Amino acid sequence: MKLYQAFNDVVLWAIRSSSPYLFNWAARAVDKLPKQTALHKSYHFDGKVVIIGAGGAGLAAAKILERNNIDYLILEASDRYGGRLKKDITLADFPIDLGAEWIHSNPKVLNIIKGKNGDEIDEELIPYKLNTALNWDGKELKPAKSYLKYFYDFMPESKFKNSTWFDFLDQHIAQEVRHKIVYHSPVISVEQTGDKVFIKTQGGNAYEADKVLITIPIGVLKSNKIKFSPELSPDKQKAIDSISFLTGFKVAMKFSERFYPDLIQCETGYGLKGGEKSYFDMAFGKNTESNILGFLCAGKAASSYYALDSEGEIIEALIEELDQMFDGRASKAFSGEYRLENWGQQEFTQGTWVVAPFEKTSNLKALAEPIENKIYFASGTLDPYKQMGAPGSMLAGYHYIDKLLLDK
Ligand SMILES: Cc1cc2nc3c(=O)[nH]c(=O)nc-3n(C[C@H](O)[C@H](O)[C@H](O)COP(=O)(O)OP(=O)(O)OC[C@H]3O[C@@H](n4cnc5c(N)ncnc54)[C@H](O)[C@@H]3O)c2cc1C
Repeated sequence: MKLYQAFNDVVLWAIRSSSPYLFNWAARAVDKLPKQTALHKSYHFDGKVVIIGAGGAGLAAAKILERNNIDYLILEASDRYGGRLKKDITLADFPIDLGAEWIHSNPKVLNIIKGKNGDEIDEELIPYKLNTALNWDGKELKPAKSYLKYFYDFMPESKFKNSTWFDFLDQHIAQEVRHKIVYHSPVISVEQTGDKVFIKTQGGNAYEADKVLITIPIGVLKSNKIKFSPELSPDKQKAIDSISFLTGFKVAMKFSERFYPDLIQCETGYGLKGGEKSYFDMAFGKNTESNILGFLCAGKAASSYYALDSEGEIIEALIEELDQMFDGRASKAFSGEYRLENWGQQEFTQGTWVVAPFEKTSNLKALAEPIENKIYFASGTLDPYKQMGAPGSMLAGYHYIDKLLLDK
């Protein structure tokens, strides 16, 4: 084991010293960031645009329409905006992200989304450089030394110190456009006839548009609950069927003491594409007295929890596993209070995220292909700047609305 560790360290050191810039994933990602977005342009469009979905992608697209006085509305299936950006302010004395939490990319992306010039970041951020991390193989906890040593250099992530991804979206995008959201409007059909697109919702309402931007999660597209006319092309349908959208859920649990490290990586044996499972200190770097342990479970690792009968049983299983790791300290310190957001089984999400770099470019391209320059697709998955996740969704919104407005 020690030999293997030493070999790993040497290989990582060699890669890092031969190309420090390439080693830094986030630095590489920032190369792909757009210098300018649709925020810097002016548009003239006489028709009406309907946006389907009020997550990061849909709302960012709406902001461009709002600023250019273009007629539009947003149809949102649920009773709230933000999609997979959601916060809780009731469990702890700091706001908790129940969906996206980390800024995986270079923080410059925040300025680009806001349309702010320069590198100075207004938001107070926590560098996610951990002090304590353990690996759990189901039997034993072991120090995750290489993780601590190299991970931050490779992928310098951060988090918002006093706020959340939802707050960022809310403050910089949603406030401007939320008056145009029609809630409780699950779209069930999108039909293109001649120059117009007709949209129907579950409640029986019908809308007419000149162009439509669809920003719903790929999980919802996979469920085939939306009828398209004309039918989706075989390439697009194949892309929807093939792109993997990991199921999963996120939990925040409150304890009376902090008996856990910054991070516990659980071995799943599936690799990143197959999913992940980890416990992490949600209070890391925050101004708080609360002890909140997060649990994130995506992909195949979620299946054993989904076999249980209730949310309560899932929490029991987590506390039992933590007791196994920490000699019964979890059940003694657990307050019984938790928040569980089951993204994988919510009707209007049906999953967590797509690991886009693992997906075939041809599938991503086919999914992004507009239909007859009338029906456009945008979501974080299709972000051409490869930021993925929360920032990717907003950049995708800007990118595809630009296309929609400029295509004849
Ligand atoms: C648990 C979890 C953790 C994550 N962690 C991170 C992270 O740390 N960092 C990061 O960058 N990203 C993370 N992500 C990914 C990130 O949240 C998403 O990539 C991003 O928010 C997707 O935005 P979107 O606008 O593309 O889609 P969504 O946010 O899913 O928005 C789509 C909207 O469409 C609506 N909708 C669905 N069906 C219909 C319909 N038929 N009619 C009308 N409306 C409909 C939905 O209700 C929703 O509001 C995480 C995601 C999850 C679930």
